[in-house]
Amino acid sequence: MTMQGRPLLITDLIDHAAREHFGREIVTRWTDGRVSRSNWGEVGHDARRFAAALTRLGMGKGDRIGTLAMNHGHHLVSWYGTAGMGGILHTINPRLFDDQLVYIINHAEDRLIFVDETFIPIVERLRDQLPSVEHFILFDAPARDGYLSYQDLMDAEDGSFIWAELDERDPMGLCYTSGTTGNPKGVIYEHRSNVIHAITEIQPDVFDLANRSVVLPIVPMFHANSWGVPYAAATVGAKLVFSTVNDAAVLCDLMHQEGVTHSAAVPTVWLAMFAHMDATGMDYGKLKRVLIGGSAAPRSMIERFMRAGVDVGHAWGMTETSPVGTTGKRPWNWDEMSFDEQVDVVSRQGCPPFGVMLRIVDDEDQVLPRDGVTSGRLQCRGPWIIQRYFRADEDATDEDGWFDTGDVAVIHPDGVMQITDRAKDVIKSGGEWISSIELENAAVGAPGVQEAAAVGVFHPKWDERPILLVVPKAGVTVDPTQVQDYLRDKIAKWWMPDEVLIVDSLPHTATGKILKRQIRDDYKDYQLKSISA
Ligand code: AMP
Repeated sequence: MTMQGRPLLITDLIDHAAREHFGREIVTRWTDGRVSRSNWGEVGHDARRFAAALTRLGMGKGDRIGTLAMNHGHHLVSWYGTAGMGGILHTINPRLFDDQLVYIINHAEDRLIFVDETFIPIVERLRDQLPSVEHFILFDAPARDGYLSYQDLMDAEDGSFIWAELDERDPMGLCYTSGTTGNPKGVIYEHRSNVIHAITEIQPDVFDLANRSVVLPIVPMFHANSWGVPYAAATVGAKLVFSTVNDAAVLCDLMHQEGVTHSAAVPTVWLAMFAHMDATGMDYGKLKRVLIGGSAAPRSMIERFMRAGVDVGHAWGMTETSPVGTTGKRPWNWDEMSFDEQVDVVSRQGCPPFGVMLRIVDDEDQVLPRDGVTSGRLQCRGPWIIQRYFRADEDATDEDGWFDTGDVAVIHPDGVMQITDRAKDVIKSGGEWISSIELENAAVGAPGVQEAAAVGVFHPKWDERPILLVVPKAGVTVDPTQVQDYLRDKIAKWWMPDEVLIVDSLPHTATGKILKRQIRDDYKDYQLKSISA
């Protein structure tokens, strides 16, 4: 052995942040408007107190500790503290339906659940159905009947806790997929996978984080680990800014007050931020780079950011990929490109960082060419990609380690990956595939359009034809034929939606994606006017 084989542990990561970035701030804007300030040094110390408190409550290695919480400094402490005592932190998405919450908490067998006061109604509705949970603990309020308090537990500890003996392959985190079909599935993260992912995420072509970065992760801590941002920030000692509410006005104010340079969120959040900025004339402050992912970012959104001088990382990933899979980045010939070409490049989902390998395959699992035309099922593998779902009997990969993502993509000759659809969202017209994502993205650029969703409906000749549901911006009237006119030179002729329907709103999943399954269900018997005529 010629080099030290020190394991890659989250405890080393938080110790590093506490030691090297002691005074770098962690800010929380709470629901009542109060702002509290901590720093990486205190988070490191508090994480040891938290680990001690868990131990005092009888928790041990491998136990699942749940959180039903928004983004805040106490939640951050619980992440590092749980990992430090050898536990597995299960971030629960409070926006799931009750039956899904019951399913995942029982499947995980969470022994404790830390709760924000605002989610007490969820606990009260469900606690009788959650036999594994020994205590509910309020993160942000004093103890009361049926609830302990985080502050009381912390006050009893002095921070002298010695981290558990850990192996880098020990489990430390658990997230459930949103489960668009069947029951949600648990993805277990390990110390090693999360550390490598964190080091990767700071790279210039991924999120471009440094010590001077001020990061506002709007993406919730229960959505694929807030895309890994709270770990990545610790590697470089970036300042973290949290908000427990996801209201555009609050977030815009916070961005200005705290000098936010980096932020990460799903497209629907950015749409709300734009609407607020348009209404108030507010600008982007010091914002330098945004990460947009979770669903495809419309070209018009990317263009708007880039015109304002904000660098966009359009990221593709999944709960199963920790979640960074690819980011749309600036290639070497960026400076030789026109602005439109630059927007085109960033609009695609981009290239994998070192560690992630990608390929596309056909229905017989034959690898397809990277020609920018042929589309196929996207598969990936790497040290932070899932091997096996929690409690599953078999691997989620094939024998060579390839994980089938359920996405359909093309890979361009320059290695840039472009998602064309979820396999089950593709619209199949006359044996050819229409990308619902491309239709939606084009439509969102049309004047007055806030949000759009394309689904296939039955057609006797073509099997399916696309219809487009459009939500207009507040106070604006949108004419369906104008949307079709707008699309005419932006999509292939045969992709033109047969009908554009104006609707008040679209259903969303618990992580803010358009809930296509429900739209397909709602419109499964839809009669196209051209057929019924
Ligand atoms: P989740 O595990 O809930 O984060 O969902 C992962 C899925 O979201 C992926 O498999 C994609 O279908 C979709 N997704 C994530 N990022 C993007 C993106 N940038 N463009 C298109 N789809 C995306």
